[in-house]
Amino acid sequence: NREIQLIQRPDGTPTHEHLDIVEADAQQPENGEVLVQLLYVSVDPYMRGRMNDAKSYVAPFQLHEPIEGGVVAQVVESKAEAFSVGDIVTGSLQWREVTVASADSIRKVDPSLGSVTTSLGILGMPGLTAYFGLIDIGKPTEGETLVVSGAAGAVGSTVVQIGKLLGCYVVGIAGSDDKTSYIVNELGADAAINYKTEDVAESLQNACPNGVDIYFDNVGGQISDHVYPLLNKFARITQCGAIASYNVPNDQGPRMQMHLIKSSATIKGFVVGDYQNRFKEGFEHLSKWLKGGKLTYEETIHEGFENIPDAFFGLFKGDNTGKQLIKVSNS
Ligand code: NDP
Repeated sequence: NREIQLIQRPDGTPTHEHLDIVEADAQQPENGEVLVQLLYVSVDPYMRGRMNDAKSYVAPFQLHEPIEGGVVAQVVESKAEAFSVGDIVTGSLQWREVTVASADSIRKVDPSLGSVTTSLGILGMPGLTAYFGLIDIGKPTEGETLVVSGAAGAVGSTVVQIGKLLGCYVVGIAGSDDKTSYIVNELGADAAINYKTEDVAESLQNACPNGVDIYFDNVGGQISDHVYPLLNKFARITQCGAIASYNVPNDQGPRMQMHLIKSSATIKGFVVGDYQNRFKEGFEHLSKWLKGGKLTYEETIHEGFENIPDAFFGLFKGDNTGKQLIKVSNS
């Protein structure tokens, strides 16, 4: 039984120096707990923030303790009334191959909704982030121009599609030609920009002849600097993520104030947990669209518990299209 611990806090980009795979003691469930075997592990950009010893919306990971994050797991022993051996569950659990979970930290996954992995992606935290960030903060109306950064990722790919469903003209930004063709051909965007090979300011101007009404921002940094000058009157910016800054200590900028004033734009940050009491609504919309063939999703799945760290590091290199997962057991 292995677990993955944080052994050093990164200053910049996380590497193998910061995570270690160690043998873990066997655990026994007590009353109200279950023993589960992890099946799929989700790696997510927000985990980088939890590696810092800094106050944020979730507590920092502790040194020499296992990392914790979204998983799909199977119950192998139950001392909780609500769960039976064999149940497939999801929750935020420690990265330990076989681990104890309290009954209130997990919920059953309904396999009739599709692959159980969707509970970590389009029907889970990233899907809900896309839904509430776009609908509640972006407030899209038909015919408006929506720009999405990080558009081939788990959140971004869902935002692009919901934007199209609601009648927006959608432009996605991502880091490879494979991703830009995925954004246009599979997700249905009207245009896509490869920020690594194109002049982003020029391409954005060409792709957005009517300016930008909504900017769903997953990345921040220089890409966003190029979007602000195009904001239309009363534009809305959903500040979902800023992955371009997560590994850059004391990152400076952007200077967006004048652009916000000129366009009377609104920028609003959020964490998906803000919408906890509306998760049911988001889940119902996403599952209805998914069942009806109106939404599609991509997963990049690595295999093997020992490959979790590399899959996590890959998020910062753009290795993934759609949701990055690791399959850690076959049962
Ligand atoms: P993704 O699936 O989008 O994976 C991360 C992607 O970010 C990579 O594939 C890469 O794609 C891109 N990226 C990495 N480094 C950079 C960089 N320096 N500049 C530009 N792009 C970069 O992850 P998620 O969909 O899970 O998350 C997307 C964003 O949303 C993250 O910033 C995350 O922190 C945030 N988030 C916020 C939530 C909230 O509640 N506010 C909840 C969930 C996520 P590419 O090849 O295009 O570079």
